[in-house]
Amino acid sequence: MVLSWGRVQRYEHDVRRLRAGREIAQIKAAFEGEASVLAHGLGRSYGDVALNDGGCLLVTPGMDQLISADWETGRVRTSAGLSNEELLRVCVPKGWFLPVTPGTKFVTLGGAVANDVHGKNHHKKGSFGAHVTRIGLLRSDRGFVELSRDENADLFALTLGGLGLTGIILWVELQLAPIQSAYVDVENIPCDSLSDFFRLSEESQEWDYTVMWVDCFATGDELGRGIFSRARPRSDGRLDVHSTKAVKWPVPTPGFALNRMSISVFNALYRARPGARYVGEQHYDPFFYPLDKILDWNLLYGSKGFFQHQSLLPPELGEAGIREMLQRIAQSGQGSFLAVLKVHGPETSPGVMSFCREGVSLALDFANKGASTLRLFSDLDAIVRNYGGRVYPAKDSRMSAEFFQEAYPEWTRLEAERDPKVSSSFWRRVTETGGNPIDD
Ligand SMILES: Cc1cc2nc3c(=O)[nH]c(=O)nc-3n(C[C@H](O)[C@H](O)[C@H](O)COP(=O)(O)OP(=O)(O)OC[C@H]3O[C@@H](n4cnc5c(N)ncnc54)[C@H](O)[C@@H]3O)c2cc1C
Repeated sequence: MVLSWGRVQRYEHDVRRLRAGREIAQIKAAFEGEASVLAHGLGRSYGDVALNDGGCLLVTPGMDQLISADWETGRVRTSAGLSNEELLRVCVPKGWFLPVTPGTKFVTLGGAVANDVHGKNHHKKGSFGAHVTRIGLLRSDRGFVELSRDENADLFALTLGGLGLTGIILWVELQLAPIQSAYVDVENIPCDSLSDFFRLSEESQEWDYTVMWVDCFATGDELGRGIFSRARPRSDGRLDVHSTKAVKWPVPTPGFALNRMSISVFNALYRARPGARYVGEQHYDPFFYPLDKILDWNLLYGSKGFFQHQSLLPPELGEAGIREMLQRIAQSGQGSFLAVLKVHGPETSPGVMSFCREGVSLALDFANKGASTLRLFSDLDAIVRNYGGRVYPAKDSRMSAEFFQEAYPEWTRLEAERDPKVSSSFWRRVTETGGNPIDD
């Protein structure tokens, strides 16, 4: 049984762990089988993009070689199962950092390509795919192919954000970003309203990293209040790698512990803590990856798991759409601990199916309370749809096929270039009728 990160979807698979040096033979053997095949990295996708119910799952983290590195130019080639965590341990002491990083370092390079992930610097650097120079892909029908902006350019663009469907990525070549320090200068600023968030984002265009935590229980004039964070790299020459120490969340939290009251108290304490006004230096690890300190933090949401909803709205309609979503959430009484707002810039990546576009995104986690949570999510989808936005497949477990196909009209191009042996639970759900429904 393999679970999604949100722990709502759990399916039987034929699980095969790829091993460095044997991976090509293992993948070819899987292609020979009857069942469909899907690569699975570190399983940090919240829903079913990395699941393939009833099929074969090729688990990649054993495929973890640093194939080549030029520390003069920062160009590296790594096996697709190497994680960002492992790469950082090697590249930070050499004065290089990930050009784009999501909010956890426990993702593989293959997973970062397949979801074309983004980070707090999207307004300046676009998404991950903008920094990928070459990909080595193994397909069941064409064998090994190399992809870049110049070679097999269409397949390259469909593989960035292609949800693992164009074949199994063997390696990724990436241009790292130079750093003079492992530390950043941070300013955390309490923010009183949604308009304040948009003003601060506009004023902070020159800062490398910007993001805001938002208190979903605030209403009226305080709707959209939160803590705005901005940061820029330091140049003090200290290149300290992150520590590998972390604590483990012991068991699933009982469902009753997460309610309107406990989340409101958490939100109030979070806003009132001294860190909410912190101005000073911070190591990259707590700045980019605060949740990585708690292994298995997804158990926090209890045995029924949780859903994430991340949407992106076009720039001109963003403020109105986000306001409507926050009002709907406040009305529902179902709070989110981890609600994050971010303005995205116009530069993205060549990825045809990539989630990121210019606009504003809102990411939310909600404990799975059955029908009421699903109703809230349908309402949020309706608002996003009405404003011409889209939902992020890496975070999704339940958007309808109709909405997906409307928001990602290029899906037919991906379907045409999909490796015929590769499929996923997500893809069947959003392209065929009758995919796996979520139970109340
Ligand atoms: C705490 C947390 C914070 C996060 N923050 C962000 C964020 O800020 N921005 C963001 O964009 N995302 C974010 N995410 C989501 C995460 O970055 C993505 O889901 C990422 O793709 C997960 O990588 P993975 O290695 O776990 O891949 P998996 O989740 O295992 O797989 C993801 C996709 O990649 C495909 N895949 C994996 N390896 C290969 C391969 N070798 N060949 C072909 N396909 C492959 C899978 O088939 C699947 O479709 C966050 C997730 C968590 C848990």
